[in-house]
Amino acid sequence: MQNLSRRPRLKGVANRVTFAAMALATPAAILGVPYDASSSFRRGAARAPATIREALWSPAGNSWAETLVDTSDASVLVDAGDIEVDSADPRGSIQSGVERLRETNARPILLGGDHSITYPIVRGVRRTSGPITIVHIDAHTDLYDEFEGDRFSHACPFARIMEEGLASRLVQIGIRTLTKHQREQADRFGVEIIDMRAWSRGARPDISRNETVYLSIDLDGLDPAFAPGVSHPEPGGLSVRDVLSLIQGLEAPMTAADIVECNPDVDQSGVTSVVAAKLLKEIAAAMYCVREIPRSHPATGGVTA
Ligand code: MN
Ligand code: MN
Repeated sequence: MQNLSRRPRLKGVANRVTFAAMALATPAAILGVPYDASSSFRRGAARAPATIREALWSPAGNSWAETLVDTSDASVLVDAGDIEVDSADPRGSIQSGVERLRETNARPILLGGDHSITYPIVRGVRRTSGPITIVHIDAHTDLYDEFEGDRFSHACPFARIMEEGLASRLVQIGIRTLTKHQREQADRFGVEIIDMRAWSRGARPDISRNETVYLSIDLDGLDPAFAPGVSHPEPGGLSVRDVLSLIQGLEAPMTAADIVECNPDVDQSGVTSVVAAKLLKEIAAAMYCVREIPRSHPATGGVTA
């Protein structure tokens, strides 16, 4: 991990924070994962952390989330730089990068990278958290036992996560590419799937405020009309507003999140990075508004700031 929390083009706020300050404030922290070597079809997602940051700090917009939280405030969101991914041990270096950030109590928002990174990220998160519910937005279940001989492909992370018992619930939203094998895998692991047909009939996830959520957003869960810059575009997906409503409607605390599969190489207008930056702001604001129950106050319910 390099360059802890340099936030270019921000005025009047703490541009640099220390690990100690982050431990006090428990902000959300951006952590880039420039890794796309587990993509099965097309590389390019490794460049996304840079383009999403560029969109996030662009003077084309402002730093406020729709819920009136200012993400330029260092108690809301800081930038922890990128994980230096070791090509000899990509998953080990991703996991240890997450673990080091978690030592500060910050809540990581990982910017992929391809979706294979979610498996080592969740391993890192679970070292310091209790049971988690994963809310997973994607066109694909990513539940293959193996894909083209690779058990760690971006088509497989949720199979590895469920095999290791790293999530007590996995709720998948936006799915529209199921195969017989993946349906069997979902049944085997007890995965709850709200596919696009069910979503369009009004089905929504039922997450209690007593759960702790890890949110994983594969941008191809959105319809290609909204997020065309992905390696596996799949028509018939979610709108940006659908995903914003999901994030803003979460009443459970969110301990970490990832936004993956933005591919700048096929994002001709750059709009997919802009969408990712928008989701990032709303996730940081949701993390700020719904905090985990403090251990020193076991009687309090979900604490709202
Ligand atoms: Mn996908
Ligand atoms: Mn995926």
